Amino acid sequence: MIPYGRQDISSDDIAAVIEVLRSDFLTQGPKVPLFEAAIVAATGAAQAVAVNSATSALHIACLALDLGPGDLLWTSPNTFVATANVGHLCGAEVDFVDIDPQTFNMCPKALEIKLARAAEAGRLPKVLTAVHMCGQSCDMAAISALARRYGVRVIEDASHAIGGRYGDRAVGACEHSDICVFSFHPVKIVTTAEGGAATTNDSALAARMGRLRSHGITRDPALMTHEPDGDWYYQQLELGLNYRMTELQAALGIAQMQRLAAFVARRNALADRYDRLLAELPLRLPGRLAGVVSSFHLYVIRVAAERRRAVFDHLRRAGIGVNVHYIPVHTQPYWRRHGFALGDFPVAEEYYAGAISIPLYAGLTDAQQDRVVAALTEALG
Ligand SMILES: *Cc1c(COP(=O)(O)O)cnc(C)c1O
Repeated sequence: MIPYGRQDISSDDIAAVIEVLRSDFLTQGPKVPLFEAAIVAATGAAQAVAVNSATSALHIACLALDLGPGDLLWTSPNTFVATANVGHLCGAEVDFVDIDPQTFNMCPKALEIKLARAAEAGRLPKVLTAVHMCGQSCDMAAISALARRYGVRVIEDASHAIGGRYGDRAVGACEHSDICVFSFHPVKIVTTAEGGAATTNDSALAARMGRLRSHGITRDPALMTHEPDGDWYYQQLELGLNYRMTELQAALGIAQMQRLAAFVARRNALADRYDRLLAELPLRLPGRLAGVVSSFHLYVIRVAAERRRAVFDHLRRAGIGVNVHYIPVHTQPYWRRHGFALGDFPVAEEYYAGAISIPLYAGLTDAQQDRVVAALTEALG
């Protein structure tokens, strides 16, 4: 089976993890700050906070922006459920903004209309999370201009998009957002097995996320309510969690980050090759936004909705591990119980009806890609 995505682990990656196993620190040692420095170097953001998943990073990002009961989080219905779930985990309400049918990302026009209505109704969101679907950045200049006009804070869910670029900056530079979040799950661009990170240019937000990942505790005397009792002393300033990344994960991440540019270059070469090899088939290729370099976490084709199931099944039988990203979040039973219904976000639903993610990962060979194309040609024939 050729999977839709998979990790690429080198002997250097393995050696880096083994070195940690022989060292003094399995957690809370020197590797996590070094991994954070690698993320800072790759993104150009001022600071990075590494945690145990992107879900955790999204959660502490929302907490750091004071999202809570009575507040509203808006995001895209075309995302993994975690992006929306963290809103409810903070006690806030969640709503969605429909997508653009070409890029599969939040549509700035739909956002503009929804914000104007929300302002009239006195029910503006506190936080907006823009999801960079497939690794292609949202139109962040347009989204952030609207967010600024209405006083909305912006998070980027760049779980798919490390190594991508928006204009002349790397995704994660936070030029148009308060916080940007990455995932290091094995199918993503670089992996730490499980892991995530948040970048920001706001040192207060970075410090707060750093505390929230570790129980809300500080060892900084400047933040304490009185002089420390001694060298052992810490204070809990607010309610936090244990979302820490281990040294094993960070060591793997440091080693993987050295290959980030190579991973993204190979994914782009494969995506360009798919564009060429699939051009004559009866399907729609992914659209590209000008001025954006996608990291190509996913390559999503769209076929006629009535044929999607048969094409998908044919490919799976042919040993091609296709998948579908994403079932619109608002159609999940949990979210229907919170007032959403089929038909609420028709562009995301129409996109979902025809979408198939075909294999794309740095280790995919041209010969394997040719097998995918041949199977797809047969399935559509
Ligand atoms: C993978 C993913 C997440 C969750 O990442 P984890 O690291 O598995 O918690 C969130 N949002 C999007 C868009 C993702 O693809």
